This record gives sequence, C-alpha cells and structure tokens, in this order.
Amino acid sequence: MAGEFDLIARYFSWPARSTRVNLSVGDDAALLDISPNHQLAISVDTLVPDIHFPADTAPFDVGHKALSVNVSDIAAMGGEPCWFTLALTLPTYDTDWLEGFSAGLQAAAQSYGVDLIGGDTTRGPQTISIQIMGETAVGQALRRSAGQMGDFLYTTASTGDAAAGLAIYKEQLPELSASQQYCLDRLNRPTARIAESRVIRDYANACIDISDGLLQDLSHILKASDCGATIYTDQVQFSPALKQLYDHQQCLSFALTGGDDYELLFSVPQVKCKAFEQAMRQSGYTYQAIGKLTANSGVIRDRDGTPLTATGFQHF
Ligand code: ADP
Ligand code: MG
Repeated sequence: MAGEFDLIARYFSWPARSTRVNLSVGDDAALLDISPNHQLAISVDTLVPDIHFPADTAPFDVGHKALSVNVSDIAAMGGEPCWFTLALTLPTYDTDWLEGFSAGLQAAAQSYGVDLIGGDTTRGPQTISIQIMGETAVGQALRRSAGQMGDFLYTTASTGDAAAGLAIYKEQLPELSASQQYCLDRLNRPTARIAESRVIRDYANACIDISDGLLQDLSHILKASDCGATIYTDQVQFSPALKQLYDHQQCLSFALTGGDDYELLFSVPQVKCKAFEQAMRQSGYTYQAIGKLTANSGVIRDRDGTPLTATGFQHF
C-alpha cells in the first residue's frame, strides 16, 4: 500500500512497555521472551464492518473493541495477555479514521498492558485482524472441556446490554437517554474481563467468553465437557440500564441470547464456590451465579425442566 511505511510509523509504532519484547515493529519478525514454565496462548479475531460492528462506529471504538475481543479470549483461557499483531486492510489512506482507530487501539493496549509487536498493512475492503498472544502457567489454562457435573455456573457482571445496544443503534434515535447510551457503550466498547480472570482462574474448571450469547456459548462448554446444564432464569440479573429500558421478558431474552457482551461464563466446583465468591467480593468484582452443570445430556433446562435453546427459547 502506498505510504505503508509512513502509515505504520505514524499510527502503529509506539515504544514497547515490556522488556520482554526484544524486537518489535520494523524487522521481519518480532522477538519475544517467554516466561519459563508457561505456555503460549494464541488466538486471532477478525472484525469486518457491518458484521462485527456498525460501519459508522467511531474509529476510536473500533480500535478499542478490536483489541478487547482478542484480550477477552486470553481472559477466557485464564491467561495473561502480553503481545498482539495487527493485520489491517483498508480501502484508502483515511487519516481521520486511522487517527481515531490508532488512539482507541493504543488506549486499549495501555489498559490491558499489552504491546503491539508487528502486523501487516494492505489495501482492500476494510478488515481488522488482531492476533493476541498471552501466557498461561503450565497446566493452568481454563479449557472448555474441564466442566464437571455439579459445578456451579457463573458469569462476570451481567449480560444483555450489548444486544440492547445494537437494538438501540438500529433505531437511529436522534437522542439517547443515559441508559440507552450505557447499552450502546457496552456494545461499542466492551471490557475484556482480564482482571476478573486472574481471580477466576484459581477456582474455575471450564471457562468461555460470551460473544455469541450466554446459551449459545454455554452449549460449547456442555459439548466439550459432556454435560448438561440448568439455568435458574429467575436468578439472572440485569444491569440497572437494561431494567430501566425493557420489561423482564425482553431483558431475559437479551441476557440469554444476545451476543457481544464479552463477559466470562465459567464453572466452579461446589467445594470452591464459597472461597471463590469471597475472593471476587474482596476484589470488588461483580459476578452472578446462574445455574449448574448437570448429567451429560447437552441440554439446557430451566429450574422447572423447561428446555432453553439459544435460538428463540420458547419459555414464555
Ligand atoms: P514484510 O515485508 O517483511 O512483510 P512489512 O513491510 O509488511 O514487512 O512490515 C514492516 C514492519 O512493520 C514489520 O515489522 C511489520 O510487523 C510491521 N507492520 C506492518 N503493518 C503493521 C501494522 N498495521 N501494525 C503494526 N505493525 C505493522
Ligand atoms: Mg508484510
């Protein structure tokens, strides 16, 4: 791409924070020091406009979100995020967009403590691809397959806000109330729960981040762990903003089937629940207990036995 080197120098080169980055942007490859007795955790997520974010989303938010959804995958593994690469495809050299995007990316990188160590820049339809690298102590990774029958199910914070945010965005309202803005912000600027993950990893068996919807992502844990689940829908909590905007049934629908929240969903063995909850409270992190892993049916049921399915649950 014309001006590629100038573009990289201007928007995607900032000093590495970590001394473990031996060599960063500018050579043929980056060189990194891995901690002893750790495994490298690697994941990549691509964002395409109008599929993963509304095309007119503020570029700052796009940059922030592109990194956050990647860091979220490392959080879901119980790892420490360390480095990332950025493969950027752009139709034009749009300096306004690049400035905002770069600022959002850098703000997120700073808040998660990760370094941008390289990438690729090409011309074409807009695509933002980030590869994140993190570390987990050997044997400590939180796998989807590690759920055990009887484990309690938890999420960080509460879900549904981002799906509400998307619904609100689609209405194209001339003005937004504080609650509507809150939900839209949850869609456009998700927080990867990396801090919470540092507590969760000492107690949890299985863990996943909620990108496609609580029930949908739970089904991945169930399949990998050969379990079923009960969700106590009467126990599911909603943010004050969500409650203010929608009736109970709509809140529950957003919370169970809405995507893009990037909260963590995880299972904790019953014997560890008390200590886990205490540790979370002590750290000031919000969580909710929402159900239990059951025998190996793959089916998700409500307390009364009603099946709950990710695509339009017929509960009401
Ligand atoms: P190569 O020809 O070896 O593929 P490039 O010209 O693509 O190298 O990139 C030059 C340097 O700039 C490399 O260190 C690469 O990692 C880095 N880089 C390229 N694009 C980006 C980007 N969007 N963000 C960060 N670093 C980038
Ligand atoms: Mg290249």
